[in-house]
Amino acid sequence: MRRRLAVCALLLALPACDADPDAVPDPLPSVSTTPSVQPSTPRPPPRPAALKLATAIQAVEHLAGTIGPRHATSRAFQQAAAWTAGRFRALEYDVRRQVFEVPGGNSWGVPVDAGRSSNVIATPEDFRPNKPHRIVGAHLDTVPQAPGAEDNASGIGVLLAVAEATAGARTRLPVVFVAFGAEEPRGPSDLDHHYGSRHYVATLSGKQRRNLRGMVSLDRVGVGDVLPICTATSEDPLQEALVRAAARANVAAARCENRSSDHWSFVRDGLTGVRLGSTPYAEYHSAADLPEVVDRAQLARAGRTLLAWVSGP
Ligand SMILES: [Zn+2]
Repeated sequence: MRRRLAVCALLLALPACDADPDAVPDPLPSVSTTPSVQPSTPRPPPRPAALKLATAIQAVEHLAGTIGPRHATSRAFQQAAAWTAGRFRALEYDVRRQVFEVPGGNSWGVPVDAGRSSNVIATPEDFRPNKPHRIVGAHLDTVPQAPGAEDNASGIGVLLAVAEATAGARTRLPVVFVAFGAEEPRGPSDLDHHYGSRHYVATLSGKQRRNLRGMVSLDRVGVGDVLPICTATSEDPLQEALVRAAARANVAAARCENRSSDHWSFVRDGLTGVRLGSTPYAEYHSAADLPEVVDRAQLARAGRTLLAWVSGP
């Protein structure tokens, strides 16, 4: 009967599957009919769990408080990338590091050497590059003088908290999580920053490009009391989708426009992308960008909005 139930689970439309299975001679030893002995029917994945704010706060404290400044080609960045990869692995994502070269230059007034940086890419089990999916990213690097609690341990914290809430759960579409390297500038032009996300976009397959249904960059999401939802161009349906998600999550949001984060690498290349965050603050790109700058309530606003987007329509 176990075999028969398995067939019926696959072929529910067959009339025979509607019949009482006990009316059919059963060549197998009889088994109990309680649900506990019908393991062949796969259980649907659960709904996402509630956001654990402590996960986001722990990331801010570890990255900005323990590791500190981590410009893209520094040892501290490598340490931060290894830690982030470990967090994703603990949540049972498939994790890979994408290494790329970054030129030397001047980052916010400080000379920086050329070298290697990396993106940390975490994919869920149900991700297929040829099936519709979404991408959520946050940059992991800082300018050389800043411990980067708000810019951008806050974004990595929310990234990890949402990855945790959705691990093994049913989302609207599979979500790829990326901690980008080398977002911060190394020179004055639009080609002197966002190296990690540009490398990521440049290496996407045609299949994945066609099936990407939206990218969200979390960048400075722990300051303020209204959540900025920014496009890189004047109008983008993805911005409206995020505004609706904020409303479902009961979060106050404001529309804005800027190109100063990793969503721009996607939009510039013809893909769809939006940024959450960007409220100005006094400690920006300075040694004072410490964990106490980050407000738990604002992290929660960003996290709840993102969770509503990945879970909802
Ligand atoms: Zn940033």
